[in-house]
Amino acid sequence: MINFCKKCIMPDSRPRIVFNNMGICNACLNSEKKFLTDWKKREQEFVELIENIKNNSIKNNLYYDCVVPWSGGKDSSCIAMKLKFEYNLNPLLVTFSPLIENSCGTYNRHELLKMGFDSILVKPNQIISKKLAKRFFIERGDPKVAWNAGINAAPVRVALNYNIPYVFYAEHGESEYGGLVLSKDNLKQRDIREVIEHQIGDFPENWISEDISKKDLAPYVYPDESKISEVKLKAYYFSYFFKWSMLDNFNYVKNKMPSFKTNPNKRTRGTFTDFDSLDDKVDCLYYYMQYIKFGFGRATRDSCRMIQNNQMERSEAIKLARKYDSEFPVDDFDEVLKYLDINTEEFNEIVDKHRNNEIWKSSVNNKWELVNTI
Ligand SMILES: [Zn+2]
Repeated sequence: MINFCKKCIMPDSRPRIVFNNMGICNACLNSEKKFLTDWKKREQEFVELIENIKNNSIKNNLYYDCVVPWSGGKDSSCIAMKLKFEYNLNPLLVTFSPLIENSCGTYNRHELLKMGFDSILVKPNQIISKKLAKRFFIERGDPKVAWNAGINAAPVRVALNYNIPYVFYAEHGESEYGGLVLSKDNLKQRDIREVIEHQIGDFPENWISEDISKKDLAPYVYPDESKISEVKLKAYYFSYFFKWSMLDNFNYVKNKMPSFKTNPNKRTRGTFTDFDSLDDKVDCLYYYMQYIKFGFGRATRDSCRMIQNNQMERSEAIKLARKYDSEFPVDDFDEVLKYLDINTEEFNEIVDKHRNNEIWKSSVNNKWELVNTI
């Protein structure tokens, strides 16, 4: 039996989500705090931080003030633009290459760079990244395990190499979307141990196999804690200083950069939005597997975020989730299977291996159905 949050529509099958005795999830409770926060005060705190960063750059004769982990999507582009054009920092944008580039995301990255940014693209050995994607899709139903390690490691490694002591991340995922918040400080500054424990889940050194050597895994290894403290690296969440909303970020970017492209199909398969996760074709499979494992799709994910920001009514969210959550990611499916080097039969076997039997049941005509839906 799946229970759904009474305020948003997130099911309790989502990992690390906790409901209170009123049936409200921790993401909703955290979002309520956003409406009580003194954002003017937070902005002042940000201005002071920026002053410190600028002074530090002058004192240490640095070229770059900070690193921004940058996918080219609405959120990281919004941060890059604000830091450069509103706060006059010189950020270095660091992108960890998508597994299967989506032309829309690549175009948006090129467009932003035209506005005058320095950037570094970290592109790991494509044979290895493909092998890792296949391996983790089979083993964990998640082709992006290694990629996730890569996007965590790359900006930090670049920051250390260039002696840049500040990194600006987007949102604190655990508090925004339901999960563990170890302490209040963690909402402001990124705790490296939290990153390793909750996001990577394990160490790339464990991935050495017959055909993958230690050296092959270099792009995925998080730098040593000792090196990080040597540079006195500090990583901040933008969402601590400014009220976080994916819709506001999109509107900001679209306004400053009208050429920002959204999904040419007007809507991304599995949801009702057209402006999110546009840089990697493998994302469609990633979200579909979330649906298999946890029983909720992209429409639920997107609408919960909007409910929490008072941008959508719950009844509307229910309609959208019913309509789109189960939609199969047909658009790039063939290309993704070819990339992973598996056939349809193998794909179906892997999907069923990861299907959560507590939330799925086989129906009379031999089709899978969720035990209960919203
Ligand atoms: Zn909720």
